[in-house]
Amino acid sequence: MDILDSAVIGAGQAGLSASYHLTRRGIDHVVLDADPEPGGAWQHRWDSLTMRDVHGIAALPDSDAPADGAGQANAVVPAYFDAYERAHRLPVLRPVRVDRVESTGDLLVVHAGDRTWTARTIVNATGTWTQPHLPYYPGIGDFRGEQLHTRDYPGPEHFRGRRVVVVGGGASAVQLLGEVAPVAAGTLWVTRREPVWRSDDFTPDRGREAVALVEDRVRRGLPPTSVVSVTGLVLREQELAAERLGAYERHPMFVRIEADGVRMPDGSRWPADAIVWATGFRPAIGHLAPLRLRSTHGGIQLDHAGTTVLADPRVQLVGYGPSASTIGANRAGRAAARGVATWLDRARVAEDVSTA
Ligand code: FAD
Repeated sequence: MDILDSAVIGAGQAGLSASYHLTRRGIDHVVLDADPEPGGAWQHRWDSLTMRDVHGIAALPDSDAPADGAGQANAVVPAYFDAYERAHRLPVLRPVRVDRVESTGDLLVVHAGDRTWTARTIVNATGTWTQPHLPYYPGIGDFRGEQLHTRDYPGPEHFRGRRVVVVGGGASAVQLLGEVAPVAAGTLWVTRREPVWRSDDFTPDRGREAVALVEDRVRRGLPPTSVVSVTGLVLREQELAAERLGAYERHPMFVRIEADGVRMPDGSRWPADAIVWATGFRPAIGHLAPLRLRSTHGGIQLDHAGTTVLADPRVQLVGYGPSASTIGANRAGRAAARGVATWLDRARVAEDVSTA
């Protein structure tokens, strides 16, 4: 039986960064990726999202970031990842969708259908894209119009002349409203909490403080919140037309969904043809369930470096919680490779002692 030192699951920004650093350390590993092509979740982003619209893609280690501009993010970033994988000869296998990881004493067995890989450690880098979050609201099943999650956003033309409710207080809601409001018959923006707008005094230090808040949650084993929920929202030039139309006037959540609209807390009804759920994503970690990594608080508790799972230090989590941004994913990849090396050294010392 071949035993790998590590198996990386996922080849987005986090998995590629981890693989780069594992390779530099000479650690024997494989990268298993569910997607048919390079690009991680970027290959699935909507067509209208250009490089000008994204909030900046951090360069993968030892490379230059892709250029900003009018190119579609779902083409530019995948081409960048593809070239990166080839330039650094990263050992990516695809498509391989991991369905579970089990522990057999000292080793971890990674299952994908009838294929298995046995490894001393794993680096989990599966992102969130496959886990869109759809909250339950009374009447959700009664609505006769269209409901979709941002993951399936087909672009603004789809909503031309229609009345659209956009739910959610994050960056995706702001971007979608920016595109949809100028062509729709009307938009209604509803959020559970008052949105937090980024003030003029936002600095890199304030950004780091915001990330530290998410780090703190993860260290305590709480489920992570999204980093943008603490860095705040910002309106850009491409959103100004929607702003002039009043699209960013925030309303409280509706109390129920009805066949042809939503009922507001003051009893009024807003007729709607479509509801767009810009309600975020959750970590795609169901395949790790057999390892029982969750704390009693519902999250997975990580160490101070932010990637090693305290309940099982053979497991590194990257792109999770505070590292769920391209820059965070990069740093986490390096920390994870260090965590893997530390575990392998410790395991070798233990083996030497037991055979001496
Ligand atoms: P992903 O890119 O999602 O990669 C995960 C990989 O894991 C995929 O290739 C997938 O196929 C694979 N995978 C999943 N499950 C399995 C499995 N069971 N078995 C095997 N493989 C699996 N961040 C920024 O820094 N700047 C931005 O402008 C920005 N814009 C964003 C826009 C949107 C709409 C969203 C949703 C997020 C955005 N983010 C942005 C966040 C950013 O995308 C992520 O933090 C980062 O790119 C995620 O990288 P990742 O490697 O963790 O995950």
